[in-house]
Amino acid sequence: MTFQAPKGTFDWMPPRSEWALAVRDALAEPARRAGYGYIETPAFEDTALFSRGVGESTDIVTKEMYTFTSRGGQSLTLRPEGTASVMRAVLEHGLYGGPLPIKLWYSGSYFRYERAQAGRYRHFSQVGAEALGAEDPALDAELIVLAMDGYASLGLRGVRLLLNSLGCKECRPAYRAALQDFLRGLDLDEPTRNRIEINPLRVLDDKRPEVRAQLENAPLVTDHLCGACKAYHEEVRGLLTAAGVAYEDDPRLVRGLDYYTRTTFEFLHDGLGAQSAVGGGGRYDGLSEQIGGPALPSVGWALGVDRTVLAMEAEGLLAERPRGVEVFAVPLGEDARRRVFPLVSELRRAGLAVDMAFGGRGVKGAMKAADRSGARYALILGDRDIEAGAVQVKDLTTADQTAVPLAEVVQFLKGKLS
Ligand code: AMP
Repeated sequence: MTFQAPKGTFDWMPPRSEWALAVRDALAEPARRAGYGYIETPAFEDTALFSRGVGESTDIVTKEMYTFTSRGGQSLTLRPEGTASVMRAVLEHGLYGGPLPIKLWYSGSYFRYERAQAGRYRHFSQVGAEALGAEDPALDAELIVLAMDGYASLGLRGVRLLLNSLGCKECRPAYRAALQDFLRGLDLDEPTRNRIEINPLRVLDDKRPEVRAQLENAPLVTDHLCGACKAYHEEVRGLLTAAGVAYEDDPRLVRGLDYYTRTTFEFLHDGLGAQSAVGGGGRYDGLSEQIGGPALPSVGWALGVDRTVLAMEAEGLLAERPRGVEVFAVPLGEDARRRVFPLVSELRRAGLAVDMAFGGRGVKGAMKAADRSGARYALILGDRDIEAGAVQVKDLTTADQTAVPLAEVVQFLKGKLS
């Protein structure tokens, strides 16, 4: 019997897996440079954290959670997103009593029982950043700029930013009521009609063309913002422009999680087909209270690692081989192997990326392995070289070969490769 990865999951395999690592690093780097500290939370939490935090009526909670009962009888859920866990940790450790905002970033695996398709998986990877405990438009703008800088550092040019405000607890109820009035007059199926009563904003997110067509004249949240929300939103927009970040206002942008207030945003890439969101986030001023904490206005984002790699592929950015080995050693015979082995270790300790031929293959097979490795130089050592106290250094791009004294080879290659 053989096994396959479960439906909706896949393996990151070399060399492509190098890009997943590179994307994770690149997306986190701007946040790290902006004072965000690393947080790691468990991959599973109390189920109620997500049902209360993410929202009882959301697709995530009603259809997509991997929930199980532990042997101890507790209901646990594999995390479908990161924000609720980060908030839980901040509350549990009492960080809100210290300096604010608390800035944190994270990276890891997330689990949603979704309809599996290209770019949409049941196990996926995100890099996230959260700034908790401050209501300041500069913080919203900072996070957006950091995400855009992360995408740009990977060479991505096609990431678009959609921006909206969802209002606050002062102005949202009136908008919600106006939207419900409008939606109740439409020709919609039973589940959607139910949704109008529970979570009308989510109806705006319906992707079906027959629903979309009817939503054309739906009231827009931006027409219902209170003065404070309007001013806040204007400030965020102004700061983005000042930082040189272009955005598109999208008054219909709502997101799949209940906790968002005021600023919401999404990062799209047009090369990805239906699953075009490479990241998203927003302000969630009510989440802390929803899960039993004090008022802790916060803002954050989560960027999809898997889809960012797909976006890079769509832009032709994966053509170059990701970081591989620089030097590949080919010993010709037993004696040579015994001498090459410590040399390879020494080269690695000197900071070079080095591999060697294993498994006692012949010269031909070993040279093929050297070519396949992507290394720039092959180090070839035969009996005659050992006698001469030298090693052949072959430039695999030009096929030029030079004998270098064994004692000098580390310095020689360091010089060539730095
Ligand atoms: P969300 O937590 O839904 O706001 O998602 C943030 C980002 O994570 C999205 O923009 C996607 O890039 C990524 N993402 C969310 N769900 C999935 C999934 N099922 N498969 C792959 N990536 C996902």
